[in-house]
This record gives sequence, C-alpha cells and structure tokens, in this order.
Amino acid sequence: MWLLLKNGRIIDPSQGIDQTGDLLIEDGRIAGIGRPAPGEPDSEIRPSGTPLLTKEGSGEVLDCTGLVIAPGLIDMHVHLREPGYEHKETIATGARAAAAGGFTTIVGMPNTKPAIDNRAVVEYVTNEGKRADVHVLTTGAATKGNDGAEMSEIGDMIDAGAVAISDDAFPVQSADLMRRVMEYSRMFDVPLLAHCEDKTLTQDAVMNEGINSTILGLRPWPRQAEEIMVTRNIMLSELTGCRLHIQHVSTAGSVEAIRQAKAKGVKVTCETCPQYFSLTDAALSTYDTNAKMNPPLRTDADVEAIKAGLKDGTIDAIATDHAPHSLEDKQVELQYAAFGIVGLETALPLVITNLVKPGVVSLSEAIAKMTKAPSSILSSSKDRCGAGTLAEGAIADVTVIDPDAKVTVKSAEFKSMARNTPFEGLELTGKAVKTIVAGRVVNE
Ligand SMILES: [Zn+2]
Ligand SMILES: [Zn+2]
Repeated sequence: MWLLLKNGRIIDPSQGIDQTGDLLIEDGRIAGIGRPAPGEPDSEIRPSGTPLLTKEGSGEVLDCTGLVIAPGLIDMHVHLREPGYEHKETIATGARAAAAGGFTTIVGMPNTKPAIDNRAVVEYVTNEGKRADVHVLTTGAATKGNDGAEMSEIGDMIDAGAVAISDDAFPVQSADLMRRVMEYSRMFDVPLLAHCEDKTLTQDAVMNEGINSTILGLRPWPRQAEEIMVTRNIMLSELTGCRLHIQHVSTAGSVEAIRQAKAKGVKVTCETCPQYFSLTDAALSTYDTNAKMNPPLRTDADVEAIKAGLKDGTIDAIATDHAPHSLEDKQVELQYAAFGIVGLETALPLVITNLVKPGVVSLSEAIAKMTKAPSSILSSSKDRCGAGTLAEGAIADVTVIDPDAKVTVKSAEFKSMARNTPFEGLELTGKAVKTIVAGRVVNE
C-alpha cells in the first residue's frame, strides 16, 4: 500500500527541508521526498542519482497543492484523565481529539487516579494507548500518589516505557526532594518536566495578581509563584545535571530566567501553550470559568515576552496542556471552578493565526516547535520518541496543513469529551486537513 502526497510545500525542520514536492509513503513508512519531473508529475519523485521509486500494488494520490506537508505534530503536554476520570476524557477520546487537531503523538501527564506512579499503571496506559488513533506516550509521576512526599519508582517506570518524569499539577515543593527526583531522572537519562508553582503563594488563588484581579475582586496569583520555582529548578538542574524542561511558561520573568540559564549552559528547555500568547487576564472580566487555568492568564507585557521568547528560541516547544473537564467542573462560580482548558483542537489554528500570520515566527519555525523540538526534548539514549521527522524510513506520521483555511471554533464539534475552551466562536486561520499516523489517515 502506498500513499503519494503530491505537490505540497514540504516542511521538515529535522532535515532543514522547505521545498515544493511530493512525499511518498509506503507500508506505513516514509519512502522518499522529491520534486516531480517536469511533464511527468507522477513518474519520478527522487532527485537524480537515487533509484526511481516505483509504487507497487495499489495506492492513493492525495493532491496537496496549496497545502503544507509536515511531520506529524507532537503535543508533549496532555491530560488524558484515564485511569480515574473517564467522565472528563479517556485515552481513546483524547487521541481522537489529537487526530482532529493534527497531532500524531501525544504525551500524557501522570495526575490520574490512581496516579501514573508505578510500573503497572505505566503499562496499563501504554497498552490502552496502543489501541488509540495516535501514538500515546506517558510520563511517570515524580512522587508516589503525587503526594509530594515520597519519590516514586522512577527506574521502574522508565523501564516500563515512561518517556519522562513530571510533577505536573502537583509541583514538588521540597527542594531536597526535587533534587533527588532530578538525580534519578538524570541517572535514567530522561527529562524532568516541571510544573513551576510555589503553592504557598497560590492558596485559593484564581487569577493573575494585578489590576484586573483588584477590579474583579478575585484572589490574586502572583507571577512570583511561578518565577521562584523556575529559578529554583534551574539551580537544581545546575546542581544535578538533570535535563530540566519547564512546562507552560506564562510570565516575562520566567522567559528571562530561562534565557539567562541557557546562556550559562544549563540543560534547560521549556514550552509555552497557545493560551499564553493568545489571551490575557482580561478574559476573566466576564467571570468566564473557561478562562481559569494554571498557571493563570497574565498581561499584555507577558504575552509580548512569550512571543519574544518564541522568536529568539528561548521557548523551545509549543504544547497545549490539554485539560479536559466536565461541564459540572466548570459551570460553577469562578472560585470553585476547575483549572484548565482543552487545547488539542485549537492549538494549530491559534499558532498560525497569532504567531505565523503576524510574523512572530515563520511557519517552519512554528512547525519545528511542534515536531522537532518536543521530539528532541523527549529523546533519550534509548530514543523512545523517534517521531517528528519525514526522514526516509521513519514511521509515516504526517500532518497536512491548510495554512489559509478559515475555521470557527465550535466546541460542540470537538472530538474531545470536554467543551471547556475560552476560544468559542473565534474565527481563526489554519487547520490540519489530514492527520496521518503510520501511513493511515486518522482524522476522518
Ligand atoms: Zn501544570
Ligand atoms: Zn498540565
């Protein structure tokens, strides 16, 4: 079986490719990239000097004129809620949402119930993931039961297939415990994905501390809660040599701290999410619970700093922090509402609309932050990720993008079980037309 993606703009940052041409997929793998010979668009897709590709058996041609052919997008920060919260999302529905949004690989966070904190749960999630529409990878929790008190069996979880360790949703408060988690993560050569929040500063906090929290009379969440822990974790990374990856960067101070750490040679990477370059805390002025998230939406100056960090490479990756919740979790007063928004089905249009179209980053740079960067952050000596490339012989995970398509966000049409988006009704540009996982189109 073959599939020929014809005459698209092929963008593969992992190989430095940005050219018009064809991509051939055979038996679930990338068979080659080339430029169609003049007058014979189907006959030869490789440059001269390499063997002609002959397509044996049956196959299909997909005209990609005007479209972009990219490596399958990777979202390294997703909450799949299974096991334990299947009323919010399951691995199967989260994967379906990923496919709809153009993601071919997603990485689940460990704050499930039971927590993904031991070999058995890692194996359960991995096995369920194998039946899903996209590749589902998992992280392991930094501490047992996410209690922040006792380190989990990190080696066991890595051995069972976890690709990283994370304290997401339950940030480790003790510096000593975090140091040991980092030492073990280093020993097993996996990155530590850190949710940076000093909980003593955020008790019952609802939104960013500033003029808007004062006007709205809502309990404030100072930016320092994030920046103190970003700085602490950078220092612990220096101490331990652990590969530290900072999750969902939301403030100008965090961006600057990471920029300085990178300049010093600290092994730190980071991600931001579309909400942090698309919205500010003004979105809470209508008391919309869908604008409540952790970390909270910040200010215009932070949005500008996030964009500058994306542009100069301080911010390596774009992830979604897809956090599905049931209506009951959100249809309550702001102060009681759950934190988080769904992100898988709005990420790509938000990136294209708010970053690429205004020229903050090029389309190729944006794709790099959603393919090559997360793949390289997650790759260890065991090379567990392996995705994010159109290299010959690679598993054929491909996202075909229409960068000019007009889309309106309609949560009722989401494949996710959840509807908690602050972007309802927004008109955006850009969408994933085809999501191809191991050679198979999965978004239809
Ligand atoms: Zn988090
Ligand atoms: Zn998260």
